[in-house]
Amino acid sequence: MSGTSERRITDLPTLIEALAPEDRAAAGRLFDVVATTGRLDPPEAMRAWIERSFGSVEAVTEQRIVKVTNRATLEGSLFNGLRASRPLDTGVSVDLEREIEATVGDPFCRPEEGTPADVFGRVRGGYSVTASNVAKYDGFHGVVVFDDHNPLHLTPEKVSDYISVALEWCRRALQTDPAAKYPFLMWNCLWRAGGSIIHGHAQVTVTRGTHYPRVERLRRAAAFYRARHGSDYFDDLCSVHGALGLGIPAEEGTRAFASLVPIKEKELVVIGRNPEDEGLQLTVGALLQSYLQTLGVRAFNVAFYMPPLTPAEDDWSGFPTVVHVVDRGSPANRTSDIGAMELYAASVVASDPFRVADRLRNGPLEDT
Ligand SMILES: [Zn+2]
Repeated sequence: MSGTSERRITDLPTLIEALAPEDRAAAGRLFDVVATTGRLDPPEAMRAWIERSFGSVEAVTEQRIVKVTNRATLEGSLFNGLRASRPLDTGVSVDLEREIEATVGDPFCRPEEGTPADVFGRVRGGYSVTASNVAKYDGFHGVVVFDDHNPLHLTPEKVSDYISVALEWCRRALQTDPAAKYPFLMWNCLWRAGGSIIHGHAQVTVTRGTHYPRVERLRRAAAFYRARHGSDYFDDLCSVHGALGLGIPAEEGTRAFASLVPIKEKELVVIGRNPEDEGLQLTVGALLQSYLQTLGVRAFNVAFYMPPLTPAEDDWSGFPTVVHVVDRGSPANRTSDIGAMELYAASVVASDPFRVADRLRNGPLEDT
């Protein structure tokens, strides 16, 4: 199979050792990687079940686990080879399409009557229109209501439109209140991802005072990294992922990769100069389309980390636009994908970032 690497996340220590000296040094600055082996002793009565479930008894008696920590941001993930070696779950449910269709006729299908406008009116794009969120997260909280009821009918051009409309909404909010300068754009697709309304929609806020804490934390981490190591955090992050084979094709001026410290399954990171850049917008749209078509994802979150809209007291120079995309699991699954580990310790992740990157580079494969 040409183009498909045999790299596995559980081999990360060896893969980093094999990098060219410059990349290896950057990987050492960025990541702490600890491998360990979990062992157990199954009773005879369990052996048949283990063989059926995991292929062999040996597969579970010694389990290789790799913990990856981003030293700069203290994001971290745990990968277990036993789980990561499984084929990516790319099943598609017909019932889901039916469930989405069953909600046609909701208030978002006629946003002019079914949703309130913001005090500065509505922003209209080619494929979407804004509404004011009824129960607000923050002083300014808008909804980008898609013309498409079905949120899975996305294309790169439509996604680019949703982002442009959200950014124009931010400018309108800033005109209304010049202190509301810190923007955030998010998309919770379907209920597994926290979306309470099925009809396609993204959300946008602007906040005052300081940026949201997670965004501010990244700004501080990157500034500290630059002061300590004399190199750019985001450049190092992209080059290390690229050197390891985790890069994903992107439009010019935009970089994308499958994260070594995914917050949950199949997390992708897209980094661009400016959220207005069409190349960045189309890359996010194309990756979401591949997410659906190639990886079989149905419920996902998207989040845009962006610098303030006008100069702020803190130093945001060199802070790019960082977009996170994450799979939230099958809408048919009743078990939440996050628990106490993810909320308070580290993310436990089943999808191998090397497989995710391979699939997105090479398109659908017979992954059995
Ligand atoms: Zn609708």
